[in-house]
Amino acid sequence: MMKKKILSAGLCLTMAVSLAGCASGTAAEPTTAAPSQAAESSSSAPETTAAPSPNAGISGTFTGTSAGMQGPVSVELTIEDGVITKAAVTESHETAGVCDVALERIPAQIVDYQTTTLDSVTGATFASRAIMRAADAAAEEAGMDMEALKARAYSAQPGVNQVWDTDILVIGGGGAGLSAATTAAQDGSRVILIEKSSFLGGNTMMAGGAYNAVDTEAQGSAILTEAQKNTLDTYLALDPSGESLKFDQFPQWQNVLTQLQTDIKDFYAANEGTTAGVDMPGFDSVSLHMWHIYTGGLRQLNDGTWTASDIDLAKTLAENALGSFEWLKTLGLDLTSGSDASLYTVLGAMWPRTHRFPAGTSLIDSLEEAAKTAGVDIYLETQAVSLLTDADGKVVGAQAEQADGTKVTVNTSQGVILASGGYCANAPMVKQYDKYWGDSLSDHTLTTNVGTNTGDGIVMAMDIGADTTGLEIAQMMPSSSALKGTMTDGLWGDASEQIWIDGSGNRFVNEYAERDVLTLASLEQENGIFYIIYAGQSDENGVCKGVGYDEAATFGANVAALAEGGHIWYGSTLAELAEASKTSAGGAAPAFTEEALRNTIGTYNSYVSAQKDDDFGKEVLSGFIDLEAIESDPNMGICISPRKASLHHTMGGVTINTDASVLDTDGNVIQGLWAAGEVTGGIHAGNRLGGNAEADIFTFGRIAGQNAAAAGK
Ligand code: ADP
Repeated sequence: MMKKKILSAGLCLTMAVSLAGCASGTAAEPTTAAPSQAAESSSSAPETTAAPSPNAGISGTFTGTSAGMQGPVSVELTIEDGVITKAAVTESHETAGVCDVALERIPAQIVDYQTTTLDSVTGATFASRAIMRAADAAAEEAGMDMEALKARAYSAQPGVNQVWDTDILVIGGGGAGLSAATTAAQDGSRVILIEKSSFLGGNTMMAGGAYNAVDTEAQGSAILTEAQKNTLDTYLALDPSGESLKFDQFPQWQNVLTQLQTDIKDFYAANEGTTAGVDMPGFDSVSLHMWHIYTGGLRQLNDGTWTASDIDLAKTLAENALGSFEWLKTLGLDLTSGSDASLYTVLGAMWPRTHRFPAGTSLIDSLEEAAKTAGVDIYLETQAVSLLTDADGKVVGAQAEQADGTKVTVNTSQGVILASGGYCANAPMVKQYDKYWGDSLSDHTLTTNVGTNTGDGIVMAMDIGADTTGLEIAQMMPSSSALKGTMTDGLWGDASEQIWIDGSGNRFVNEYAERDVLTLASLEQENGIFYIIYAGQSDENGVCKGVGYDEAATFGANVAALAEGGHIWYGSTLAELAEASKTSAGGAAPAFTEEALRNTIGTYNSYVSAQKDDDFGKEVLSGFIDLEAIESDPNMGICISPRKASLHHTMGGVTINTDASVLDTDGNVIQGLWAAGEVTGGIHAGNRLGGNAEADIFTFGRIAGQNAAAAGK
């Protein structure tokens, strides 16, 4: 019975290929006309084609395992008389959303084509290969003829050329693309969105769920800390002629400082009689957010020149981020703002204006549903390769190619929105334009990014004359996995409560600083590896009383799994933690002494108590680690996680104006072309603040969608 069932198109194909003498490479589309080995038993099978299978007689269930990105991947093959009748992934820890297609398609193709040599699934190359390797191991375990298995290698072939007509084409299905597409469709345009990868979400899916927005209502429910008030006082005392402000080069930003000083004075006046740290409410303003974008992004390049944020784009972002956040609520996202929000400071944000934001598949699923509800047609595994222009230079569509090589021409009546993200997964491109990191970067520097963010949109736009801004600096995420470059496998809390130490257990940086400052300091450590002490999140009094061994922690992992997986060290006492750090985790074994850890934590605690960091000037200090409580409670402990910087966000990209229109090298609008999100440059200058990416992509995604739709009216 079973054998009959597996007389599928796929199985027949494999024999057709081998009979054609195809040793490797590609196979034709499945056909039911070819004779098959299983058909041997059928009376109609021609005798001459019935070569004995090298695997005849092999039956049973066999399992093989290989190393995936996030842990072991196991595949179970069911073999009946040399024929693979079932392939199933029985263990996988690969990232949800990223690898779903690979987990489904590769096993199905193993059965269909009777081979373990298949095309990798776009965007999930590592997982695809891990599944194929695990299947190989299972086949080997079964004693199958591996050469014969490889000789049936299957690769999908292009279909007939396609031509699609639409009003607007959106290139890229991350946060910017999905919000642009939804907005344009809501505004009445026909919209096609193409995504190169096998899944939607891009880096937006990888982002840490942080969204910065000026939210004065939420600030009204918060208390301004003493450290924050000290920071505001330093802004009031700033001398506009000060060299470090660079107003000689960027005079337009002086007005923002003047406005900020007025805003702070007004705030103090309105809250006279209140005390910071007691009853003075939190403060924020568009001018403060802009000031942070300016000062956080002001950087000097290797050639001595300075780069600063485009003031108009920064203003558009600061003014509209909360509105975009409220719009996202209308799409069904579960978000809190206003007096219900508890704001925090994501790493590198410079101020507690970070709103908690959904991350991963839950975010992307909601956005996808909203896009589909609005009427957007979405095509996965479809990569834009060039932009089409008419005789006047107006963008009228794009040429694309699907994963199987099928060519698609998309003609648009209104134009194209580029939302294809940045290029951190293209380290050579980062290096080509880099004028900041120098030798700290190589063509092989790891990245937090999805593998498909290789800068295609920037290259396509440049090819039709678009200008670019700020390609000279890419942002590195200082606290990535030392082995993989991903943001997984670690533990960290609010920037204000983290303690970063070197291999000897000493602090080496102000953990509240901007990301590039953190990265530069971290890259000076041995092998670029440093360590984060994590003792759980602080309570309302700013005290960390330890972290339980099974307690759920950042990125859905838990402490026990991370410690047992060899990613972090855990101890229920400092002595235990020091002992644990002698074993290897995350590519390091620093062997901290208990004394060094106790000294560092003791000194840090004294700074938290005094709200003043004498060593590194950390402005916002919390996370007093209550060692006594931790050491007396056997269920509570403390962790250290090894980290290393990797490429995270490219601040540069195509030049846009506040309408999200792409500009050419003469500063003119390229008709029919808009861009939003990480594919653009200009807003973040030399350093993007943590939590500003999501605010940027949704704000400018909406603007691009609105303006592209308006072009049809
Ligand atoms: P943003 O944050 O700006 O939205 P993301 O990284 O979240 O950027 O999303 C960008 C998306 O664009 C990714 O899903 C990526 O796979 C996709 N992409 C990149 N290049 C192309 C291309 N040439 N054609 C279609 N999609 C692309």
